[in-house]
Amino acid sequence: MSIAIYPGSFDPPTYGHLDVIRRASAIFDKVIVSVLRNSAKTPLFSAEDRVKMLSEETSGLPNVEVVSFEGLTIEFARSCGACAIVRGLRAVTDFEYELQLAQVNKVMAPEIETVLLTTALEYAFLSSTVVREFASYGSDISKFVPPSIEKKIINRLNEINEKNN
Ligand code: ADP
Repeated sequence: MSIAIYPGSFDPPTYGHLDVIRRASAIFDKVIVSVLRNSAKTPLFSAEDRVKMLSEETSGLPNVEVVSFEGLTIEFARSCGACAIVRGLRAVTDFEYELQLAQVNKVMAPEIETVLLTTALEYAFLSSTVVREFASYGSDISKFVPPSIEKKIINRLNEINEKNN
């Protein structure tokens, strides 16, 4: 059985991420979407919330599982029995970073391949940072994220604003 992990922050998940998940799920027998718990960063959403959002949005894809992890991606990939790490490529700006990551991972874990999926053109500009930025100014983000995630982002930002006022 071919297992791939798709690691990332997904803070929040966007249509770009969901597009990569859907396409990876057509290539591999199983795709484990792996939400990075990064204690160094203060995320908008907890890892649990991000796992929940991604699980809900991928519930129609039976070979997709969503989990969170900490530590080195290759170690996690190994523990899952994965043969590949899937990453998304939006533009040349992603390329340098992703290539470096893929090369380091290849040295550390030669048995695991990195598979870079190019983004769908309509999502090429989309990142979690763009979504957070627009949402923080009250802009319409309905073209970037599914409706249930849009609601959660607005609620979360309101919560943070109330706390700060
Ligand atoms: P990280 O913080 O590890 O870069 P992200 O959550 O930003 O994680 O993204 C996870 C992966 O999804 C990365 O490989 C990133 O390039 C890819 N990705 C992000 N946005 C898009 C998009 N709009 N289209 C395709 N891939 C994307």
